[in-house]
Amino acid sequence: MVLTTPLFRALRRLYPSARLDLVTTPAAAPLVEEDPHLDRVLTYDKGGGDGLAAVVRKIRAGRYDLWVAPHRSARTSLVGALAGVPRRVGFADAGLAFLYHGVVHRPLARHEVDRNLALLRGLGAAPESGDRVLHVGYTELEAQQVSAVLSGAGVPADAPLAILCPGSVWATKRWQADGFAAVGRALAGDGLRVVVLGGPGDRDVAGRVARGIGPGAADAAGRTSLKALAAWMDRARVVVTNDSAPLHVAAARGAPTVAVFGATTLDLGFGPFHGRTRVVQVDLPCRPCGLHGGHRCPHGHFRCMGQIGPGAVLAACRQVLGGGA
Ligand code: SF4
Repeated sequence: MVLTTPLFRALRRLYPSARLDLVTTPAAAPLVEEDPHLDRVLTYDKGGGDGLAAVVRKIRAGRYDLWVAPHRSARTSLVGALAGVPRRVGFADAGLAFLYHGVVHRPLARHEVDRNLALLRGLGAAPESGDRVLHVGYTELEAQQVSAVLSGAGVPADAPLAILCPGSVWATKRWQADGFAAVGRALAGDGLRVVVLGGPGDRDVAGRVARGIGPGAADAAGRTSLKALAAWMDRARVVVTNDSAPLHVAAARGAPTVAVFGATTLDLGFGPFHGRTRVVQVDLPCRPCGLHGGHRCPHGHFRCMGQIGPGAVLAACRQVLGGGA
């Protein structure tokens, strides 16, 4: 979702007075609720009981003139068609792509941001360099949530923060908790206050990292909303993350970041976009072993993460902290 936000910016540039609405899942919606280029965010809870007919009715009621589909599912193609949107543009490799009036080939060698922006070609337009800007916003409410968690953890409001994000849905994209803890201890020794962040599903790993760092670390996993992630990034002097959502939110907020890549590689198109970022990874012939990583190493050795020591990650942190990225 974060890597689609430049497309919203570009569509607003092309159609400044149009009503520009987005359909997405309830889980992703918080990331775009504050996007200034969108008028409304409509949610479609496909796993939670919203049938296809419900979303088709919603779209039909909006009487849209144009359907632009960065999502390549057959369901997305079908919804636009069933809702009777008169002009529809999508990717050639989407499911049921024949339902689109304009199909665009995805430039697979490019970053995901540029792949999404390629959809403009289906509208007879071209991306401009000013489009290539990520956006994730938040409100005063999220800023207050962050301040409350920090104050509850005894962290002074003006303390320099290191934010560690050790979670990922995919096990092969998670660097070791011990490594995060070692980096956290060293950054605390450098005078930063360390906050461990994650969603509700990351509580276990975040707890292990925070305990490994010691009493000065604040374990904030599952304690603030997804939207608050952007507010956290604005407070960070340095962010250490796996190849997961915080990487892209950090890039959107311009937070200095160190990203640890394991089973995935930059040429898959989901690397850091803008911001002061260092990537730590090792060169192995088995990388990448999947587009999104997997739940276990297919070779059983998990060297892509096992060979990354805390020293390399810490050195990268000190580079971005010193402005050397
Ligand atoms: S196969 Fe290689 S890239 Fe994939 S998880 Fe194992 S070590 Fe990592």
